[in-house]
Amino acid sequence: MPSGDRIPFIDLVTPHQELAIELVAVFEKALSTGGFIGGPMVEEFEKAFAAYCQAVECVGLASGTDAVRFALMAAGVKAGDVVVTVPHTFIATTEAVSQAGARPDFVDIDERTYCMNPLELRRYLDEKCRWDESQNRAFLKDSGAPVTAVVPVHIYGQTADMDAILEIARTYNLIVVEDACQAHGAEYFSRRDNRWHQAGSMGQAAAFSFYPGKNLGACGEAGAVTTNDPELAKMIRKLRDHGQARKYYHDVEGYNGRLDAIQAGLLSVKLKHLPMWTKQRADLASRYDELFKSLSADVIAPYKPEWAHAVYHLYVIRVRHREALKTHLAKAGIDSGIHYPIPLHLQKAYEFLGYKEGAFPVAEQSASEILSLPMYPQLTHEFQDRVVQEVIKYMSEGAITNEVTPLISATTP
Ligand SMILES: *Cc1c(COP(=O)(O)O)cnc(C)c1O
Repeated sequence: MPSGDRIPFIDLVTPHQELAIELVAVFEKALSTGGFIGGPMVEEFEKAFAAYCQAVECVGLASGTDAVRFALMAAGVKAGDVVVTVPHTFIATTEAVSQAGARPDFVDIDERTYCMNPLELRRYLDEKCRWDESQNRAFLKDSGAPVTAVVPVHIYGQTADMDAILEIARTYNLIVVEDACQAHGAEYFSRRDNRWHQAGSMGQAAAFSFYPGKNLGACGEAGAVTTNDPELAKMIRKLRDHGQARKYYHDVEGYNGRLDAIQAGLLSVKLKHLPMWTKQRADLASRYDELFKSLSADVIAPYKPEWAHAVYHLYVIRVRHREALKTHLAKAGIDSGIHYPIPLHLQKAYEFLGYKEGAFPVAEQSASEILSLPMYPQLTHEFQDRVVQEVIKYMSEGAITNEVTPLISATTP
């Protein structure tokens, strides 16, 4: 039987209760003005979030999925194009590629960061594609389709290695759209520029999600694109609003992809607290790291490269007997998660791409060993200690009876 309270995976109640007065005031303001779509609350949030990301523009949208889709479309991805991303992400990344009319394709991840491996991206372009000098484009050798964009995913709140990815993108004339849906406030140190950059300010555009469980979450659905390109922002403002910049003058066919004013108002309230919440997450992550040190042979903690300040959307460990450990934790009253159990190339939805098991070995092995532990700003040290104690208990008792398979080394380059 669980001892004491159940430890939830995430706490969506406490932060909203703490801010209830301010949040309810947003709702009352909307009710008293009737401003439900667009208007000052949306503009105010867009300004604040652009500043937070050190980006020139922010365009509020209905979801992170719309953000990836509109960013790709506005940046110039066309029907029939190929967009390269990773199989180790939430399906929204590739859904958005398909919704933009393109075909998603994959390269494997780095075994330490779980983000796109730039060497694999280069290998894909060199080996699977031919370079056409006159069109300044890479084309897939098998289908002849042009490869026009890359979507690095800043998974779990840690940025992909953007210097390398941006360099490859320059060489092969690729659009870069960051999927920053899990990385609000994450930072990347560019050795090229010799300075830190915010997630969302490095590609042509970046997509953010404000799904409730994200580091900055709305009280419903919401998302945004950030970009340093005002023309691109203008195009996304059109796409989100039925292709119009002026009411009933439709330059293109667009979508209904706007951000609700109430959600924007709620997000503005919460954004003020995001730096503190991010610090709390980072402190909790360091504390987990420290507490797991004695288990370093059995538990691989998140990799901390010098060039990244992660925001720990998730705290993901890697262990040999993931399912058994998850069951052990559940029995002890501790919720955990798996992000994500089946890589996208092995999903039924992507059978048509023709990939088989073994196509992306790092993503596949990671998917079978990763476990996301409780991580949220309000997580107490007492709860955290209990999580770690149960992992230790499992490792000293349960794991011994299981067959041992080697872990991918977290230290090999
Ligand atoms: C959450 C998420 C999305 C999609 O965001 P929604 O707001 O749910 O549409 C896209 N990519 C990644 C990596 C995500 O985590």
